[in-house]
Amino acid sequence: MPSLAKNKSKSLKPKKVALKNGHKNGTKNGIRVSAKTAVLKKAAKVIDKVIGKATGKAAGQLGKPGKRTYFFGGSGKADGTKEMKNLLGGKGANLAEMANIGLPVPPGFTITTEVCTEFYANGKKLPKALDAEVRAAITKMEKVVGAKFGDPSNPLLVSVRSGARASMPGMMDTILNLGLNDKTAEGLAKKSGNARFVYDSYRRFVAMYGDVVLGMKPENKEDHDPFDVILEHKKQACGVTVDSELPADALKELVAEFKAEIKAKVGRDFPTDPYAQLEGAIKAVFQSWQNDRANLYRRLNNIPAEWGTAVNVQAMVFGNKGADCATGVCFTRDPASGENMFYGEYLVNAQGEDVVAGIRTPEKIETLGNVLPKAYKELLDIRKKLEKHYKEMQDIEFTIENGKLYMLQCRNGKRTGFAGVRIAVEMVDEKLISKEEALRRVEPEALNQLLRPVFLPAAKTAAVAEGRLLAKGLPAGPGAATGKVVFFADEAEALAEKGEKNLILCRHETSPEDIRGMNASLGFMTAFGGMTSHAALVARQMGKVCIVGCDALSFDYHARQMKVQTANGEVIVKEGDWISIDGFAGEVINGRVDTTPSEVIRVLIEKNLDAKDAPVYQRYAKLMSWADAARKLRVRANADQPDQAEASVAFGAEGIGLCRTEHMFFGEGKIGPMREMIVAETEEIRRAALDKLLPLQREDFAGLFRAMKGRPVTVRTLDPPLHEFLPHDESGIAELARDTGKSVEQVKARIADLKESNPMLGHRGCRLGITYPEITEMQARAIFEAAIDVAGEGQPVFPEIMIPLVGTKKELDLQAALVRSTADAVFAERGKKVGYMVGTMIEVPRAAMTADKIAETAEFFSFGTNDLTQMTYGLSRDDVPRVLAAYQSRDIYQVDPFVSIDRDGVGALVKMAVEKGRATKPKLKLGICGEHGGDAASVEFCHEVGLDYVSCSPYRLPIARLAAAQAALK
Ligand code: PEP
Ligand code: MG
Repeated sequence: MPSLAKNKSKSLKPKKVALKNGHKNGTKNGIRVSAKTAVLKKAAKVIDKVIGKATGKAAGQLGKPGKRTYFFGGSGKADGTKEMKNLLGGKGANLAEMANIGLPVPPGFTITTEVCTEFYANGKKLPKALDAEVRAAITKMEKVVGAKFGDPSNPLLVSVRSGARASMPGMMDTILNLGLNDKTAEGLAKKSGNARFVYDSYRRFVAMYGDVVLGMKPENKEDHDPFDVILEHKKQACGVTVDSELPADALKELVAEFKAEIKAKVGRDFPTDPYAQLEGAIKAVFQSWQNDRANLYRRLNNIPAEWGTAVNVQAMVFGNKGADCATGVCFTRDPASGENMFYGEYLVNAQGEDVVAGIRTPEKIETLGNVLPKAYKELLDIRKKLEKHYKEMQDIEFTIENGKLYMLQCRNGKRTGFAGVRIAVEMVDEKLISKEEALRRVEPEALNQLLRPVFLPAAKTAAVAEGRLLAKGLPAGPGAATGKVVFFADEAEALAEKGEKNLILCRHETSPEDIRGMNASLGFMTAFGGMTSHAALVARQMGKVCIVGCDALSFDYHARQMKVQTANGEVIVKEGDWISIDGFAGEVINGRVDTTPSEVIRVLIEKNLDAKDAPVYQRYAKLMSWADAARKLRVRANADQPDQAEASVAFGAEGIGLCRTEHMFFGEGKIGPMREMIVAETEEIRRAALDKLLPLQREDFAGLFRAMKGRPVTVRTLDPPLHEFLPHDESGIAELARDTGKSVEQVKARIADLKESNPMLGHRGCRLGITYPEITEMQARAIFEAAIDVAGEGQPVFPEIMIPLVGTKKELDLQAALVRSTADAVFAERGKKVGYMVGTMIEVPRAAMTADKIAETAEFFSFGTNDLTQMTYGLSRDDVPRVLAAYQSRDIYQVDPFVSIDRDGVGALVKMAVEKGRATKPKLKLGICGEHGGDAASVEFCHEVGLDYVSCSPYRLPIARLAAAQAALK
């Protein structure tokens, strides 16, 4: 119970995108299967055995002991399969799988994630035995390709890419065209008869290697990439605008200029020996597992550091050899809306990173048929084959070299929450997957997006009519956002820390370094890049509003402004100006535009949209109905106002699990008598004030009971320290003095009297009701009178009175007896009875440890895991932000324990209380009402320990329902 104001907002506000389930990611059948070296070798056998037993899968899933490289491509079966993600990373496992199902995959090999762990364990040195394995694998590749690594007359070139178990787009490093030096370049130019292509590849290689391996980065945030600067000069000198127009000679000059720049800045010669290049690249990729952005990304996504990345070394195929070459990225369905259409982009005569990095704005995939019809047809067939094989939307990367299609990657595609729900529901309709599988597929947190605002149609129409529509880009992240323009990610982060919530990050393009600032913004937009650019991918994952490829924008970072080229001329938008972005339509609007809730909100809460006109709502409702059929846990809401209760019911609440009565005292006319009650010095005066509160509280409860239409309502007696209700400003104190007939000094003295050193552990919870029984008595009376009133209106009611902060059975005995005697009195007065229960919160460790005794009196327990976490850790729930960042960066906490339940500590207490409570009363009703009740991982825990229900804030209910279904389906 921190400040009341805080609690109030906590109960209604949808929680900030919470972190994904931590423990789940690292386990399989409850057994951690992360890659480790020495330990793993021993453990692997045991794990293999157990997993083999548990899943019925071959024990070989974890790979062969001592084998560090896995070959794929060529005519034979690959060494790996899609099941081997832990060892080969997602990319490696899927390259093997695509090769196994007969797709055209250039040959290569994967260095396992275990080697990454070895690399770090050995002080960032590659294991000695790796070298021979790498050389053998390269020899095998040479045979398949018919070229030789380092051979000046016929060189094999390779790509070196990262690939962790979980996809971490753009977070780690990649190097292409490795194997080039002046000699191999010359030889390749001769052999291919295409010098332009060779020197284009060579300059890319030098730039990438220079950046990734040799550390050539921009020196300041305002600076451009050093290689880009040289490239721009070269383009100007040659009088061309795009790099594909640069002639071979100019590209060759670029290679030399890049190398000279490297020598000047980092003092190293560019390596010429291909094996030395390869070793440097492998090390750099392993090292990139621990770079800042990868570390942050892992923290945001709960990916354990010990997983490590694999490295994929693959024969290069070239999309930049000429007009019959292309490269592209596609999704088998639209990753933004989920629509079942082939969705993607490509660039003719380019290499893969050009599409992803957004250097040129790519073409839509549907036009590829006009340019390269044969390869396009094959790609369409592969789209179908992949969806049938994986039964999941795939994100694919391809390259066409001289008209021949090659697949370079496939993985389950990242998608928006909208798309996630649509794809899952439609795949059931298409009979590709079962309902259960659909439920497993949707990330509970992703449902947040369906509950996101869109622009008020009238406000947007007006803005457009006023000529405020500035530009249009690609709609990469759905939703509507309106906020202040910020140009630098670090500044967005700093502003957000100061409390600025409405920020739109505007950049020429974004890069992985920007993710903190992107996370701190409501949305972001870029001038360059397509739907698969960095900004677009990150938006989808973070659930942010996003527009990319808005080429009407040009930036002057030094002047801190951007110029927008509109139909009516230029508009200057400065830092701090308001801007609005429509992530559905890709439209940029000058100034503020008011937003309106989502389709789901409009149908369910505002009731101003018919369900039949709301396809997003329909899919949501379908998924929710499947979730409700699958889940065992019941769901309740933390709500204390009738409108919140109504929203809760609309979101599927089956009761109220926590009504924090203290929130009610801030309503109309209540704070005055409440304060009078608190400053009262005698029981008589206190009772007089309570008498004023009684009818008001009665109406509060009646409102809740009516809204809940017979569903159970758990009402908690007063919990916070009393001084939290008292005025702290002079005018409030003067008013209280007037109302109570006291002097200002007397009131001040009483306030000082009530001040506690440590109110969180002081005179609060049931201690209030013990010292001032008349407060509990008034609240119980209000509850029963309201219940009888509403029952009299013909509506069933079922109140559950809950006593907070109990630590001993005696406390509960006294409070329960008071509640029961009050009930008897009210029933006698009214000549009517209603059913009810009296229970307690378990939120003090002592209560958990003596739960067997407490259960003798309690008819139900509700775990208050906010306080239980606070007291178990001895860490104030209000002060946790001060330590959180430091603790998370040191992996002391993998997730904020106030967001996701700490299974080992707090969870152990919950488990103990469940066992002890049910030992006394086998049918004891058990729930949770701490914030964890709306966190997917915690909901899974609640299911496992056998609670009857979870209770959470109304907007988290859909998440809780889905998480409960997923837990039941495990
Ligand atoms: C809790 O402690 O978990 C709880 C629900 O109560 P509050 O947050 O009001 O202290
Ligand atoms: Mg509490």
